Amino acid sequence: MSKQFDVVVIGGGPGGYIAAIRAAQLGFNTACIDEWKNAKNGPAPGGTCTNVGCIPSKALLQSSEHYEHAGHAFAEHGIEVKGLGLNLGQMLARKDNVVKQNNEGILYLFKKNKVTFFHGRGSFVKGDANAYEINVAGATEETITAKHIIVATGSNPRALPGTPFDEKLILSNTGALAIEAVPAKLGVIGAGVIGLEMGSVWRRLGSDVSVLEALPTFLGAVDDQIAKEAAKLFTKQGLKVSLGVTIGAITAGKNDVTVEYVDAAGAAQKVVYDKLIVSIGRTPNTIGLNAEGVGLQLDERGFIAVDADCKTNLPNVWAVGDVVRGPMLAHKAEEEGVAVAERIAGQHGHVNFNTIPWVIYTSPEIAWVGKTEQQLKADGVAYKAGTFPFLANGRARALGDTSGMVKFLADAKTDEILGVHIVGPMASELISEAVVAMEFRASAEDIARICHAHPSLSEATKEAALAVDKRSLNF
Ligand SMILES: Cc1cc2nc3c(=O)[nH]c(=O)nc-3n(C[C@H](O)[C@H](O)[C@H](O)COP(=O)(O)OP(=O)(O)OC[C@H]3O[C@@H](n4cnc5c(N)ncnc54)[C@H](O)[C@@H]3O)c2cc1C
Repeated sequence: MSKQFDVVVIGGGPGGYIAAIRAAQLGFNTACIDEWKNAKNGPAPGGTCTNVGCIPSKALLQSSEHYEHAGHAFAEHGIEVKGLGLNLGQMLARKDNVVKQNNEGILYLFKKNKVTFFHGRGSFVKGDANAYEINVAGATEETITAKHIIVATGSNPRALPGTPFDEKLILSNTGALAIEAVPAKLGVIGAGVIGLEMGSVWRRLGSDVSVLEALPTFLGAVDDQIAKEAAKLFTKQGLKVSLGVTIGAITAGKNDVTVEYVDAAGAAQKVVYDKLIVSIGRTPNTIGLNAEGVGLQLDERGFIAVDADCKTNLPNVWAVGDVVRGPMLAHKAEEEGVAVAERIAGQHGHVNFNTIPWVIYTSPEIAWVGKTEQQLKADGVAYKAGTFPFLANGRARALGDTSGMVKFLADAKTDEILGVHIVGPMASELISEAVVAMEFRASAEDIARICHAHPSLSEATKEAALAVDKRSLNF
């Protein structure tokens, strides 16, 4: 007889493994199936995020930032580094070890919460509202059943048409995180979050990086003022970004890649790179799930179709994370996973899409929550804006990183915070205060009246809130 569960989660990325833990906490007999393999063919739960996404990219961003600081920033602090060298092998091994610790952490959490883990591919066999049969194909094959299924099968990198990833010369995020020697000339197609983060890593390690972007504006989803400031800072660092390009033929040679494109001025260009990273977005992953076999509906873009509560068209089948609509972010996937487990338990799980923070972990970091100024203008909302530069922040001066600013947007009448945008040091950490404030529907004055530690970067947040009413104290 097949093993029976209350809840089976297919996919062990941030959406799936968190859903499984929450379901188990709520008293459900829960299983999670994940097929990701480590180098030894063993289980590596955590999905894209842990294995080839958030975690390894941040490990390399940190290491490469240390390297750049040792080479360029330490001298100002009176620290002389002689004979600075790069041991890329060690840097990559450290990154792999950080990933492994996270994989092991998830397996430990499964044990602690009594989630049964299956290493293999899960696919629908058949089912109805009472029970679904799921085939698990791993080292062995078996069928398990559950009343509730949560699909969290994530996403895959999108390739350019006719240019598949070979992960040697034409790289997705997977190859971009494992280049064995610093490429002299690195091309990046796509100036989104992943392209900018990966471009930053290899530029800091010595590559001459060119980023080619089809859109005419830099970071179109980011507040205009912040995006312009970021573009200025990146250009100063030596990152070359060309906007409005039309990519043509891409030809992989033996040791290099030739990219032909038409630039924004209409001129034909042909550039040879040692490696090419293609980061033009991601596509939902439903491969091998047998969605069609049980009539699980996909939308026109291939995402699993869900309602606002992550319910699919099949009774008691739910879907969360990158495989459904909404921002492809690990914390969005996690929030949906928790909400679905709570809904299965009859609770009122909730995800507030208006307060999901976004972060780009470049240097300086870019982080935001809520509406941009251009969105408020387009929506005809009357607003007040306040900005404060890190240049006027004591802690930023002490750190030696005074680039960027904090910007507040508040409703002109009620003063409710509508958006907060940061480009600058530790923006990823600073944005949390804004998320909390917006979740509690705070006004800019609420933040302006809260005592912030001195000296701290968070004082720039308070000062930007004060600036909404033109009463910054330090600028
Ligand atoms: C380079 C890079 C950097 C990123 N950085 C960030 C960041 O800093 N912050 C952030 O919020 N987001 C970041 N992201 C995005 C983030 O990784 C995703 O949003 C997140 O991983 C989505 O989680 P998920 O659980 O939906 O899917 P995934 O993490 O993709 O996990 C899906 C899992 O399901 C497994 N699976 C698929 N099909 C089956 C099946 N049939 N049976 C069994 N298992 C299956 C897969 O093997 C995988 O392990 C980054 C992404 C990339 C590529």
